[in-house]
Amino acid sequence: MGLVTMKYEMMKAIKGNYAVPAFNFFTYETLSGIAEAAAQKKSPVVAMATMSGFKMGLFSPKGIAKIAEGISEDYGINMALHMDHCPDVEFLKQLVDYGFTSVMIDSSKKEFAENVDDTCRVVEYARKYGVTVESELGHVGGKEDDVEAENLFTEPEEAARFVKATDVDALAVAVGTVHGFYKALPKLDFPRISQINELIPNCPLVLHGGTGVPYDDFREAIKRGVRKINVGTELKVNGTFNTFVNAYSDPAQLAAKDPRTISKVVIDAVAAKCCEIIDVMGSVGKADC
Ligand SMILES: [Zn+2]
Repeated sequence: MGLVTMKYEMMKAIKGNYAVPAFNFFTYETLSGIAEAAAQKKSPVVAMATMSGFKMGLFSPKGIAKIAEGISEDYGINMALHMDHCPDVEFLKQLVDYGFTSVMIDSSKKEFAENVDDTCRVVEYARKYGVTVESELGHVGGKEDDVEAENLFTEPEEAARFVKATDVDALAVAVGTVHGFYKALPKLDFPRISQINELIPNCPLVLHGGTGVPYDDFREAIKRGVRKINVGTELKVNGTFNTFVNAYSDPAQLAAKDPRTISKVVIDAVAAKCCEIIDVMGSVGKADC
């Protein structure tokens, strides 16, 4: 138990035909809730830091690596500590040094050749330490870490060329999901997922923008080769923020004036939401410990 690489979990997921649940954390409570759910469900889990968390000064990179390691050991779980959507190669190298077990280089808005170059630089460094690298081709649009972007679907042939050129460990694909909340129900391009998976069967596919996707669509995407599904907004808004707001509006909590009781309410709410999503991933009972 403790921190493990994302690749380790995804390779097991390929064999077992399920997806590894990946959750963004926004506060200490979110991270603990994610660990609590993984322990309850005996599921592998990926806990994902966001750039905005560092920019806002909420987490120190070195500190969060040690906290995540300690939490995973205390809960008796395997956890991959992953850096989500990062465009900065040098920062990712630092995170590898600090103990992150997985990183995502996001140069998906750049030209193909530049995306390949950036990804190769991260792969070259991370591989020395056995750290997993995810990259994105095409572009998953929507509100990503507070920045709006357009959706640009991943071309299967291009994905195959990209993986061959970079030897990246996991590929985030744009197949109809977007980041943030959906204004209308998302329409996933399932044939496209199958086409990409057939061309690169040994490279696990990652689905971003999991919030609000109907659970049956998750199941279909998993059948077609998606091996990691990211959920962030649901935990940020409903799991963490709304639970804090409701708890602080509760007269009993206000009278108690003890922030720890409120933190506990948030941890439990996040854990419950993560458990619900883990059930859909098919990863229940797939943890080693
Ligand atoms: Zn994403």
